Amino acid sequence: MHPRRELSTPTAPAPWQRTALGANLLGSDGGLGVTIFEEMTTLAAQTGAINLGQGFPDEDGPLDIREAARAAIAAGANQYAPGKGILQLREAVAQHQERFYGLSPDPQTEVLITTGATEGIAAALLAFAGPGDEVLTFEPFYDSYGAVIGLSGATHVTAPLLAPDFMPDLAALETAFTGQTRIVLLNNPHNPTGAVFPRSVLERIVELARRHNCLIISDEVYEHLTFGARHIPVASLPGAADRTLTISSAGKTFSLTGWKIGWVTGPEDLVAAVRTVKQFLTYSSGTPFQSAIATALGLPDAFYDEVAATLKHKRDILSEGLKAAGFDVFSPQGTYFVNVDTAPLGIHDSVDLARRLPGLVGVAAIPVPVFCHPGGAERTRSLLRFAFCKKTEVLEEAAARLATLGGLV
Ligand code: PMP
Ligand code: GLN
Repeated sequence: MHPRRELSTPTAPAPWQRTALGANLLGSDGGLGVTIFEEMTTLAAQTGAINLGQGFPDEDGPLDIREAARAAIAAGANQYAPGKGILQLREAVAQHQERFYGLSPDPQTEVLITTGATEGIAAALLAFAGPGDEVLTFEPFYDSYGAVIGLSGATHVTAPLLAPDFMPDLAALETAFTGQTRIVLLNNPHNPTGAVFPRSVLERIVELARRHNCLIISDEVYEHLTFGARHIPVASLPGAADRTLTISSAGKTFSLTGWKIGWVTGPEDLVAAVRTVKQFLTYSSGTPFQSAIATALGLPDAFYDEVAATLKHKRDILSEGLKAAGFDVFSPQGTYFVNVDTAPLGIHDSVDLARRLPGLVGVAAIPVPVFCHPGGAERTRSLLRFAFCKKTEVLEEAAARLATLGGLV
């Protein structure tokens, strides 16, 4: 009679709650609803805190590229793009893969444009994983992985990355593979830890994926944000290309996270399956942004070098500040995140700290346990992630504020 009232006092989670939102999501309403990023960004706005939580730059990407989107709108690029993306962008993605990695996907059949990497990840998982399958990721893992693996009905299995270097224990990785492993979902460079996996780790992943006949889905959105260690796409390793889907996006490289233009590359049959799912998620992705990103991908090497160098400098500024504030700092090799251990300050619950930090010192951050299942959450209980994709003066001010934390807790 009153379904709404029944839903407001549930005795058991509704099916969408069970499947879509795993323990990895820290919703402010009891694990449901908003992601940790949304929650912390809202809290930062409410308290006027410096937001080093959700990873988005506080300076927009190149003006020429933004003007190119404006020009595309003025020129009438305002209706649906083809489902697989405009040819100009598919060609630009193929050229980017060739230029940086010597890979040569066919822009007609082996490149798909998506609504951010998020949609590429979702469409790939939904295309290939289902009940009875296991999807293997490292832990901590990016939040959407747990949610979409849940939506697919597959089981999420993890292998830990441990501080201080967040490299996998290769023996533990091997035992995490089973006869049910259908997909290994890799994230390299890795959010939230900032690890960049060396060839030896990637080779072992390929070997294990081949032995267990599973697919590799590799999320490489931070491919250009590395600080010395060079990014190696797993698809470029011997024996990997025929079973690997590589996913990336424009958001991080070009500081345009709101444009949500991503891409998937890989063998024709695998990309076709992802395209089939993508058609029914969004059908196609923002037309005027596609042509602007095609231009962006062609920017000279100096642009890409500068992006990484600027970010490295920011990493160093924030890391120094965090050390001075008394944290143990785990310096990242890539991404725009740095993790710290709060235990030296006598703080052992980073989820609690993250909720109080904006009010205490005026800085927002993300607790690492939210990127984990319960066992991993226990292991990472005192770890906190800070984003350093912010102006240097903002990072300096955040560091100064954090330096007062020791006296307050
Ligand atoms: N993968 C990882 C590891 C990320 O950190 C993010 C966050 N930006 C995404 C995917 C999502 O990328 P996009 O904004 O292009 O959807
Ligand atoms: N990738 C961003 C981060 O890790 C967040 C993106 C989002 O809010 N979904 O901070």
